[in-house]
Amino acid sequence: MYIGCHLSIAKGYGDAAKAALNIGANVFQFFSRNPRGSSSKKLDIEDVEEMNRILKENDFGPLLAHAPYIINLASYKPNIYGMAKGILKEDYKKLNELSIPYFTFHPGNHVGKGTEYGIERIVEALNEIITGDEKTMLLLETMAGQGTEIGKTFEELKEIIDRVEYEELLGICLDTCHIHAAGYNIVDDLDGVLEEFDRVLGIDRLKAIHLNDNMMDYGSKKDRHAKIGEGTIGIDAIKNIINHPILKEIPFYLETPNELEGYKKEIELLRSLREYP
Ligand code: FE
Ligand code: FE
Ligand code: ZN
Repeated sequence: MYIGCHLSIAKGYGDAAKAALNIGANVFQFFSRNPRGSSSKKLDIEDVEEMNRILKENDFGPLLAHAPYIINLASYKPNIYGMAKGILKEDYKKLNELSIPYFTFHPGNHVGKGTEYGIERIVEALNEIITGDEKTMLLLETMAGQGTEIGKTFEELKEIIDRVEYEELLGICLDTCHIHAAGYNIVDDLDGVLEEFDRVLGIDRLKAIHLNDNMMDYGSKKDRHAKIGEGTIGIDAIKNIINHPILKEIPFYLETPNELEGYKKEIELLRSLREYP
């Protein structure tokens, strides 16, 4: 089972990999750049090599990078749109150089212009960013539907994928908190939700799972993550998710409100609930 969490790379990639080992993780997610700073640090080859050595020696699963939250690929404002494209393009290039398999991002917010308009903007941006020579896959994250977020239904995500030229480089990162808040009933009907995912998007598109409990209600369209077992999804449903035959080989990344010690406990708990080796 590949299970890990979001980790800081503020002290480097090697340090993040060591932190992952220390908490019993065999996979992790990190921001593609410092969320507070605007420019990404120049790559330190030794640091990257140290990380790669740790990953290899400990049979880590695929690492997942996450784009900064501030970018909005659906914006109608030229400066915001231009900045979002610039950041995504630059980080995508860097992650390819690092051979990071997956790069997830929030599709965007249409801020009043409507879903169709927003999708149009996102598609145009992705067609500029992806050249077709990349190896890293871009993952669209399933969203809660808070405010004017795009990506709250599988259909919206499918429409984006269908209109991108190099659609073979696109996949989905499913966030359990977000889809529960969006109104997909993963608590009482996980099979039904996965059937719908497969019918609309194709299950092969699913590459990563953000494993979070939901602090808000089912269908609330509010995005607030809870610790595992402390939200409206609950421990039984989470146990079903990590053991589901369709999901069990997909890597799980926790984004719960925790420090390292809390993540370590959640990883232990999840491993104890796992029914497969
Ligand atoms: Fe996210
Ligand atoms: Fe997420
Ligand atoms: Zn979230």
